[in-house]
Amino acid sequence: IGTLYVVATPIGNLGDISERALATLRTADVIACEDTRHTRHLLDHFGIRVPTFALHQHNEREAAAKLIALLAEGKRVALVSDAGTPGISDPGARAVAAVRAAGHRIVPLPGPSAASVALSAAGLADERFLFAGFLSAKVGARGTAIMELAAVPAALVFYEAPHRIEETVADLAARLEPMRTLVIARELTKQFEQIAVMPLTEGPAWLAADDNHRRGEFVLIVSGPPPREGLDAESERVLKALLAELP
Ligand code: SAM
Repeated sequence: IGTLYVVATPIGNLGDISERALATLRTADVIACEDTRHTRHLLDHFGIRVPTFALHQHNEREAAAKLIALLAEGKRVALVSDAGTPGISDPGARAVAAVRAAGHRIVPLPGPSAASVALSAAGLADERFLFAGFLSAKVGARGTAIMELAAVPAALVFYEAPHRIEETVADLAARLEPMRTLVIARELTKQFEQIAVMPLTEGPAWLAADDNHRRGEFVLIVSGPPPREGLDAESERVLKALLAELP
C-alpha cells in the first residue's frame, strides 16, 4: 500500500512552512496541487524540483484516479492546496476519500490554516467554535445560513473575499445578537496583517472607515451568543421529575 501525504502550506509567510513539509515535498516523486503555477512559486522558493499535476475542484475525481494509480506504482505522492490546509475550504476531501477507499494510507502534515491562525489571536472566551467557511454569495441563502447559525452556542468562523466583505459583515451585524464581538483578521502572516476586535454592530463602520480595511484576505469570527436565560425553579423541578420517569 502507498501513502498520500496531505501537506499544509503557508497562508502568506513562507517562513511558516514546517521542516517536515519541506522534507516531504523534497522527497516526493510527484505533488498534486490545486494550481500548479501557484505551488511552483512555493517550490521554486525552496529549490524543490518535483513534478506537479493539477488536482482542483473541477477535476478532483479524475485526479484522484491518477493519484491512486501513482500510489499503486509505489510512487511517493504529496497533496497541497494553494495555501493553508487542503480540505479546509479547499479541494482535497474527495481525493482523500478515494485514496483511502483504494486501500492506501493518508498521512496529514499539519500546518497553518487561516481559521486556526485567526482563532489563536482572537482572544475570545468561547470554548467552542464552528467553522462555517464561505457564506453563499446569494443574498437569500446567506441570510438563511446566518439565521441557522445564530443560536449555535459557539464562536462562528467565516472566510470571506474582499469584494463581499462589506455585504457579509453588514448581514452578520443585522441578523446576529448585537452584543456579540466581531474579530476581523486580514492578511494574516503577511506584511499588512491586521486583527481588529469590536462589537459586531461596529463592523460596517470599521470597514467603511479606511479603504485598506477592505483589502486582502479575511477571516471573520463572531463570538458565541450570550447564554440563554436559565429555566426558572419550577420548570426545572418539573423537567427533573419528567426525566426521572423516562426509561
Ligand atoms: N485552505 C485554506 C486554509 O486552510 O486556511 C483556506 C483556503 S480558502 C480558498 C481561502 C480563504 O481563506 C480566503 O478567502 C480567506 O478567507 C482565508 N485566508 C487565507 N489566507 C488568509 C490570510 N493570510 N489572512 C486571512 N485570511 C486568509
